[in-house]
Amino acid sequence: MTTTHTLNDPLDVQPTPLALLLLGRESDPRSERGVECPGDLPAPSDPDLVERARAAKARLGDRVFILGHHYQRDEVIEFADVTGDSFKLARDAAARPDAEYIVFCGVHFMAESADILTSEQQQVILPDLAAGCSMADMATAEQVAECWDVLTEAGVADTVVPVSYMNSSADIKAFTGRHGGTICTSSNAQRALEWAFSQGEKVLFLPDQHLGRNTAVLEMGLTLDDCVVYNPHKPGGGLTADELRAAKMILWRGHCSVHGRFSLDSVEDVRARIPGVNVLVHPECRHEVVRAADHVGSTEHIIRMLQDAPAGSTWAIGTELNLVRRLAKAHPDKQIVFLDKTVCFCSTMNRIDLPHLVWALESLADGKPVNRIQVDAETEHFAKLALEQMLALP
Ligand code: SF4
Repeated sequence: MTTTHTLNDPLDVQPTPLALLLLGRESDPRSERGVECPGDLPAPSDPDLVERARAAKARLGDRVFILGHHYQRDEVIEFADVTGDSFKLARDAAARPDAEYIVFCGVHFMAESADILTSEQQQVILPDLAAGCSMADMATAEQVAECWDVLTEAGVADTVVPVSYMNSSADIKAFTGRHGGTICTSSNAQRALEWAFSQGEKVLFLPDQHLGRNTAVLEMGLTLDDCVVYNPHKPGGGLTADELRAAKMILWRGHCSVHGRFSLDSVEDVRARIPGVNVLVHPECRHEVVRAADHVGSTEHIIRMLQDAPAGSTWAIGTELNLVRRLAKAHPDKQIVFLDKTVCFCSTMNRIDLPHLVWALESLADGKPVNRIQVDAETEHFAKLALEQMLALP
């Protein structure tokens, strides 16, 4: 029995050179997103930004549909026609075939998913091309292809079913579709794993090790010893063939740079400060944090739970700060605090600000679409197979 079950400190992960190219001005074709955002942006200090956004949106009318991810800034959410998590938003976009332009206020992989699920005639626009996701960038197509070679050499590839989190590039979703796997969200990860284990003996879970581990161990009854971590920065993933043969869950060494920062200390600290507090965290948090929390659930689950909570109850929430602040404002009858004193916003989500939104909308209204996100036909075909498998999960 393997004992490789290191609970990695996400901060000691060697980032790919791509993951931190947030402020660069150059494109990197190996990244799940571009890093250059062309265009003549309005100044953030322009006092007319709100009015300009309203006017451009009014000029476009029903031709534009604006999607706002839950982690977006307030100034952007104000203009969203609908809000939600990444999968809900992609489906909302698909349900509006009459909208010529889908402006996705979120990150790059979300815009790709929207492009995959919408028609050829619809154009998906990402207001800032530098709004990528550091987690999605932790699994590149080349790295994952190399991993599959390692699994093949170890003689286990035939028994492995890939399960990829929605938070992955279109390339990784296509890899998953090519190898008979499924996509999952943080809401249906357990059902995805149950299905995958009915199809094969092992799961390769990409790219978020924490969601994979938390679901396998806390929801499926697997042990930490059943899990190994494949590190794409080490030869052979840092694992021996015997370790791969013994494992049931092969977890990719990726994590969310926001949720991965919540620590056991932050849980203990908030419990000491607020006696009786309910700690509610996202499953992208580290295993020990999820174990120490009272409740765990997806973004949509967190929103519902706080809606249903009794007045006067107290909550410490471990998810993105923009959302927690809006929830605290929406429920003044409950005490809602952020779980950690130092964790901050998702910096890539925050790249979409009012100047970028105004620039994107005004360009569309002038008939000059900018920052279109287009997935090529072959990638789209296989990525769709994996997405459709998710929709068909029992
Ligand atoms: S919150 Fe985490 S998973 Fe979501 S976009 Fe930001 S880095 Fe990616």
